[in-house]
Amino acid sequence: MPRRTFVTTLEEHPNLEEVLGVLAQLAHIADRDLPALAEAWSNNVSVAEARDRALSPDSPLVLEALAAFEALGSLFEDDLAGEAAYVAVDPSVTSTALKAVRDAIAGAYARPALSREQHGLLMAPWRAVFPEAGVHEPDLGPEGARVKALLAALPRLASRCHDAESAGIYADLVTRSFVDECDRATARDAAFQAAVLTSRRRVWALVRRSGIEGLSRPCTTCGTEADQSELSRVLTLCLDAACVLLVADAVSDDLLELLIAPVHSLIPEQREKPNT
Ligand SMILES: [Zn+2]
Repeated sequence: MPRRTFVTTLEEHPNLEEVLGVLAQLAHIADRDLPALAEAWSNNVSVAEARDRALSPDSPLVLEALAAFEALGSLFEDDLAGEAAYVAVDPSVTSTALKAVRDAIAGAYARPALSREQHGLLMAPWRAVFPEAGVHEPDLGPEGARVKALLAALPRLASRCHDAESAGIYADLVTRSFVDECDRATARDAAFQAAVLTSRRRVWALVRRSGIEGLSRPCTTCGTEADQSELSRVLTLCLDAACVLLVADAVSDDLLELLIAPVHSLIPEQREKPNT
């Protein structure tokens, strides 16, 4: 019986490398990977027992593993619904593929609580498709640093009721949200098409999810909830900017500028382009 291990934060997880590798890959699972994952996945008594063990309440960071399941579901929401024209894989195949992904998430998190065989069973379909534990952060493209900077700025805006500077920026964003709304909506659709064409729509969903989490939280100090209509306007501005930066290399400079201009106060300036 494996030793029970107490792990309270991801940073101290003994299997951190594998956990981060799996999480970073989630938004980069490509359409071609889905049939391969579905094919590699099967269920039997041993796998089911390993899964039950992995998801038992005293498994390390099991709540984080379950939160990752939920994030996975939101990244593949369109694929599971199967309605959008750009969904190219049969939703029933995707559904099976995601079972393989969930087993890998569960297996990676629960590694210290599993036997070597149990861990191997849960990871096998994933490893058949992603043999290497690769990068540990999702690839946010050539403007990834600015996407990250923008997402990192949002939690500070969420605590604006105790921070005059953030409150000022937020109020400014509300005002700006009333300008060029139609043009920005058209630009957003074009940017999303660019994400579809460059196979980045799941990373797009990941960025949106992070942005919503960062900005929508109630104040951590006093619990004040935001005015929902203002919040939704500011969120739209910020998510549009983060998402267009994600496809910065696949859209025109004008389109890029239209969507990032309103949030310039939140992101570092672009590096000077070389003259040659
Ligand atoms: Zn507050």
